[in-house]
Amino acid sequence: MIVPTPLPDEIDQGYLGTVMRHNGAVDKKEIVGMMAQRIGLGDKSRREAPCLELLSGITQIDIQTFVRRHSTLPFRRGITSYQSDLKHGSIGNRKLLCTSGMRVARPGAYCCPHCMKQDVMTYGISYWHRKHQLPGLLWCPQHKTPLYYMESEAAFFSTPELVLNNCLVVPDSWMRQSVDNQVINTFHSISLALLDSEKPFSVTHASAILRKQAMARGFQVHGGKVKSSLLSDAVVDAFGREWLATILPRLADKQKSEILNQMDGVLYMSNSASSVVSYVLALSLLFETTETAMSALLAQTDTTATKISSVRATQSIKKEELISAYLLSYGSYSKTATLLTTSYAAICGRLRDMGLPNLRSDRFPGLEKAVIAFYVEEKSLADSAAVGKVACDVLENLVRSAGAPSFDVLKHMSKPASGRGSGTRRPLKLAPHEVDSTHEKLAVKFSPHMKRERRLVAECSL
Ligand SMILES: [Zn+2]
Repeated sequence: MIVPTPLPDEIDQGYLGTVMRHNGAVDKKEIVGMMAQRIGLGDKSRREAPCLELLSGITQIDIQTFVRRHSTLPFRRGITSYQSDLKHGSIGNRKLLCTSGMRVARPGAYCCPHCMKQDVMTYGISYWHRKHQLPGLLWCPQHKTPLYYMESEAAFFSTPELVLNNCLVVPDSWMRQSVDNQVINTFHSISLALLDSEKPFSVTHASAILRKQAMARGFQVHGGKVKSSLLSDAVVDAFGREWLATILPRLADKQKSEILNQMDGVLYMSNSASSVVSYVLALSLLFETTETAMSALLAQTDTTATKISSVRATQSIKKEELISAYLLSYGSYSKTATLLTTSYAAICGRLRDMGLPNLRSDRFPGLEKAVIAFYVEEKSLADSAAVGKVACDVLENLVRSAGAPSFDVLKHMSKPASGRGSGTRRPLKLAPHEVDSTHEKLAVKFSPHMKRERRLVAECSL
């Protein structure tokens, strides 16, 4: 049996595909059987000898090291309530390695054509990088260019070069907006830090440090009736619904001031509120930098001794004070927060409740011009959007949120009783092109369509 050396950061599924091709195996079952025979575990089931253990065996790399270098498990189990003392890749729980060891961190297979060229020059072959598969990543961190992707993970069994012509590509304009978003960047660096970790952080610990930060910033830290600003609303505002649709679809169509346990629950639920993604979103929003977030996570000491942020609690700021700071800042949320010596997250919920939108968003630099054209110069919506060089629906959303109380009531009344949008079925993550092609309200995907890639991958030689 030929055992090629796994390349740096090569994802486990991609490496399995490489081993398949080198040994002429026709499918996963055949190569798994060959690997098990090779290391003398031919009589074991996958529960007794998971695929990751076989890969570790044939490469003679210790399984925990293999998992830390090639699996997305350290990210997916980065913050968990289930066996949080279990090191990533530990054979102490083979069932876990078998059922979720080699899963993907997001749907699809992503690659960067520039990294591919570089890899061909260095190693003579292109391969799938693990870091490109992290949720929400739309561009190559090294080359700052949009990632290419296939919707089906079956692509991992081929090389990126072979499937590149059939790949979809993240739209450049959309990528640029995300590249400039600081919280999205923090989200990626925290994800990378988790990917590099030896063992998970417990939900109890993560929740405690998040709760302290959230309380200091005036967020509601309990479930039930909504009495103060919600973390989920601040997350929607800071990250944007389009980007969120690719990682936590419930947030994409969430109504304002409506509690979403999947997100808000990170502050009060003792079991994992949802996936690790919710915790990383909260960490990115509530901590100024990746370093402070990771230091807080790593400080496994008594969390009650964790320093509470010195920022002013939002409740202590009077409404008049908030409006005058907003006016002085010409509608910039971040400058308003600076003037009031508080945080962005603390004031954005209150300003939005008052129908005062963020006019200086990095994502839409021309928004202020568009708003002035609409309200002051009384131009039409389409003309005003053209003046500010923003999409019509962006301006439309702003106009709606400016009349927040009545908008909320109307939106609630128009909510369908069942079917799409009623929240009665589980939404799926959208792929970048699906979000990009949505021009109206961001509808989440409820059922998978026939994946065109399955057919295309089958056509490519393995
Ligand atoms: Zn690259």
